[in-house]
Amino acid sequence: MTLTASEAGQAAAHFRFFTMEVLRTRRLGHSFLRVTFGGESLADFRSGGYDQSLSLFLPPPHAEHTELPSTDEDTWFGAWRGMPDAERPVMRSYTVREQRRTDAGATEVDIDFVLHGDTSPASRWAGRAVSGRRIMAIGPAVAQNKSVRFQPPAATDTYLMYADETALPAACAILDRLPAGTRVKAWFEVPHPDDRLAPHTLADADITWIVREKGASRPERTARVVDAVRAAEPPAAKTPYAWLAGEAGTVRAVRRHLVGERSVDRRTVRFTGYWRLGASEEQLLAEAYAGRAPSEDPASEL
Ligand SMILES: Cc1cc2nc3c(=O)[nH]c(=O)nc-3n(C[C@H](O)[C@H](O)[C@H](O)COP(=O)(O)OP(=O)(O)OC[C@H]3O[C@@H](n4cnc5c(N)ncnc54)[C@H](O)[C@@H]3O)c2cc1C
Repeated sequence: MTLTASEAGQAAAHFRFFTMEVLRTRRLGHSFLRVTFGGESLADFRSGGYDQSLSLFLPPPHAEHTELPSTDEDTWFGAWRGMPDAERPVMRSYTVREQRRTDAGATEVDIDFVLHGDTSPASRWAGRAVSGRRIMAIGPAVAQNKSVRFQPPAATDTYLMYADETALPAACAILDRLPAGTRVKAWFEVPHPDDRLAPHTLADADITWIVREKGASRPERTARVVDAVRAAEPPAAKTPYAWLAGEAGTVRAVRRHLVGERSVDRRTVRFTGYWRLGASEEQLLAEAYAGRAPSEDPASEL
């Protein structure tokens, strides 16, 4: 898909650069760290809620703060790509778990990071985050933007959700917003029992937690999720909407099951690979850019 000039202009107007300063951190469960950001530029931040995502630029290990040579919408990408490898901030996709305004009128943004090891740049950065550290982000300047992927048709009567730990912040933010009584069947897969973070929701949500076996192979983890979905009584739904996000292979398998075995209309399944076992986000971006126009959203619908 190549965007027309007016679409590209519109997309650019929806997003802009923000400087985000770490205010505090809080450990949630076994694998999650909530980082709360503030900063003056966040006054113009407009999360659309639900699964709103943004792109973070995290500094290299030797630097305290993120420095980008340009934040101009026409030149930043080339300037960023042109930086020496050792100096270039890594770009990673994350979810706005919550945006709020404090009593003092300041804007705060929470992001829940999965700590999955010390060798991956984003996980490593989050594990060492201390107040005062500044990073950069491309985030929403208007609430209606294309990085809110949860877009159910108005007639939806039941929601089917699958999320692994990386997509649990998004799933919880979606559940936060669903009205009282909304019918939801959800499967949430986490690495540790303490990661079963109970979402606050008014929805009538039936959640099946799947705690992954330590050391399970890729096929084993996917099979366990698909088996759990298959074993569930299908909710009596006329117009279901499915939202699936997490490790790309598992997401694809759950989608295949819903469309192939449960006859869910493929047009009502929103599925996004949030990461892929064995591939860094750079590798996924490189694949996405090789196959598509650079203007297309690389946080792929795989
Ligand atoms: C739209 C969107 C929203 C997202 N929201 C969130 C969010 O709110 N919170 C969150 O934690 N993540 C979120 N993610 C996923 C996150 O971007 C990836 O996990 C990312 O790869 C982390 O970057 P990294 O530098 O830690 O690891 P990378 O350098 O990208 O990867 C290094 C290695 O670690 C593996 N890896 C990556 N993530 C994990 C993981 N979670 N567990 C185990 N191995 C992993 C990769 O397969 C690779 O082998 C989101 C992704 C997308 C596309």
